[in-house]
Amino acid sequence: MIFEHPDFDAHERVVLIHDRPSGLRAIVALHHTRGGMPAVGGVRFRPYASEVDAMSDALRLSRAMTHKNVLAELPAGGGKSVILGDPKKSKIRELLLAFGRHVEALGGAYFCGPDVGTGPEDMDVIAEETRFVGATTTQMGSTSPPTALGTFRGLQALARHALGRSDLSGVRVAIQGTGAVGGELARLLAAAGASLVVADVDREAVRSVADATGAETVDPTEILSVTADLLAPCALGGVLSRETIPRLRVRGVCGAANNQLARDSDARLVRERGIVLVPDFVAGAGGVIAGLAAAGFYPAQEMAAKLDGIYDRTLEILKRADAEGRTPNEVAVDLARERLGD
Ligand code: NAD
Repeated sequence: MIFEHPDFDAHERVVLIHDRPSGLRAIVALHHTRGGMPAVGGVRFRPYASEVDAMSDALRLSRAMTHKNVLAELPAGGGKSVILGDPKKSKIRELLLAFGRHVEALGGAYFCGPDVGTGPEDMDVIAEETRFVGATTTQMGSTSPPTALGTFRGLQALARHALGRSDLSGVRVAIQGTGAVGGELARLLAAAGASLVVADVDREAVRSVADATGAETVDPTEILSVTADLLAPCALGGVLSRETIPRLRVRGVCGAANNQLARDSDARLVRERGIVLVPDFVAGAGGVIAGLAAAGFYPAQEMAAKLDGIYDRTLEILKRADAEGRTPNEVAVDLARERLGD
């Protein structure tokens, strides 16, 4: 039952999609439309262990998108969709076209973009059937570079707060996942003089980033327990859990991966260990900030300031969390709720 689902958070609408001809099975979760704004969030395409897991992902990710968009001061609510399937095997054109028709049928209540398992080329296909899609190849292409830049600004704020450092030179940063965002982040950090240790389950991805940045590499099973100043999770969600938090050997965590906490309450465990955790929905907002500028949601000349704003917002949240003895996640969610008037 959706209303009793542990991840249900007064979501406005949850749509289950089954398209017989293409075999599409998808969930679109509209968490908050802020009284008529589009709920914006990416299309995640992955093989879920169960439908329950897929529903949980859609509910949690769409709620995080509301918080992300509100805190980034974007004129958008929060939503997310998941397509159940293996993108390497079942991502066929007919399936994406069918998805696009369903997005169009929502009449603009949901505006989609890429996420794990989908990219700008997929958005091009979806755009053949709907107006409510961004980050197509002609509109802006990959959202990863601005996401990495926003995460970089979050790490700078974290270094100031947790390490008393005005820059990242000489700061040792561990990056989990050297894909589109993690790889770009590694390049930005290397250019800023940080010393890097990186890991990825994809050996080729990690090798090319290590070659380009001089980063040390470790086995993916070790990256969450390496000794470093800061950790940047840029792979999948759920990596901060009761099992991994006791093993962390860093003073702060700030990455782009969505829903890094296995459970929201685990933020307390991080805090009890004296580790500062920047909420992922604050640090990872760069992609949607750039995507919505390109889609004309707000004037493009405001984009750079919004990306830069991630630094001030992160610092404000970390300071308030310290002053109030709460976790940065609790403070950030409360700030978002205040702005929503909830
Ligand atoms: P990506 O698929 O390009 O990169 C993810 C990388 O993580 C891959 O190289 C993968 O091999 C690696 N990986 C997976 N499991 C791993 C593990 N256990 N240990 C180490 N590495 C592992 O995806 P991306 O676009 O770089 O996004 C990374 C994360 O950031 C995702 O969680 C995504 O939701 C989030 N995010 C991305 C954007 C964006 O604009 N791309 C925006 C906001 C948030």
